[in-house]
Amino acid sequence: MATNIFMNIGFIGTGLMGRGMARNLIRKGHAVKIYNRTRAKAEEVATIGGVVVDSPAEAAREADFVVMMLADPPAVFGVVEGDNGILATIKRGAIVIDSSTVSPPTSLRVWELLKAKGADMLDAPVFGSKNEAEKGELGFIVGGTPEVLARAQTILDCMGKTNFVGANGMGAYTKLVVNLVVACTIEAFNEGMTLATKAGIDPDLMVKILLSSRARSGIIEMKAPQILKRDFTPFFPLKLMAKDMRLALESAKELGAPTPFVATLTKIYQECIDSGLADEDFAATIKHLEKQAGVEVKSRAV
Ligand code: NAP
Repeated sequence: MATNIFMNIGFIGTGLMGRGMARNLIRKGHAVKIYNRTRAKAEEVATIGGVVVDSPAEAAREADFVVMMLADPPAVFGVVEGDNGILATIKRGAIVIDSSTVSPPTSLRVWELLKAKGADMLDAPVFGSKNEAEKGELGFIVGGTPEVLARAQTILDCMGKTNFVGANGMGAYTKLVVNLVVACTIEAFNEGMTLATKAGIDPDLMVKILLSSRARSGIIEMKAPQILKRDFTPFFPLKLMAKDMRLALESAKELGAPTPFVATLTKIYQECIDSGLADEDFAATIKHLEKQAGVEVKSRAV
């Protein structure tokens, strides 16, 4: 497949992340058929180009590449093998790039289904959030064969940078590890900030000290200002981080790797969902701690 020509691409899942990714493919001149379960979100993307279609099967018809950016394993299986799923129309030689964060067994099963149709696949979950998706600056964590990656490289380049981590399924494992560390870091930050506030320490000063210390981290740098401003607009919805903790826990159990923090976090996330925080940003786990502590972690400037 030539690498310097425009491709036919089916894009499935234009939520917070998929929206920017699809727009970047359109901006680079590719012919994109867009499907989203909630049609209005696909139509919004199509205001800059591309064509909205009525099913995953229509998105995949004649496509050289199908990019999926879906919530979770049930969404991926529904889009792949459900009624009007991509298996009905995917052509031989097509490549599916699945950027959804799913379990490694999900990814491997979808790969098997696609191979039976003569198509191939990369698991290519991402790091970065909606701003990076808009700017084409995501980090792809890619599992697959080098040959398939080479064919898909120009498509990935439209949306971000590639980190190749090995065979099919390894991208999915690697992404779960990234989110495990991110979720544990933010939970530690939230617990520390709740304790600091309870002790009467100025939250702004506490953040300044944390960010000057070895405790500094990229995710704290990103989330601390949002938490201090009490802005929990979802960059990464709490319900999706809850899903990732469940998937990390499942993977760890299968592999026999101990993950006591993740086991605890899975319970904390479920309690947050039960108390109505599912659609807020995952940093909103702090509200759960604040409720128990009877404090609010907030900048004194707000
Ligand atoms: P989102 O805004 O909730 O979008 C989820 C997408 O999946 C939407 O297009 C949604 O369609 C679709 N979907 C959900 N259930 C479906 C089903 N049963 N059938 C068909 N479509 C279904 O989430 P997002 O933030 O874009 O995240 C997408 C993926 O990227 C997730 O796996 C997430 O873990 C991962 N991720 C997110 C971030 C982030 O910062 N947000 C960062 C890295 C990775 P509707 O519009 O109809 O609901």
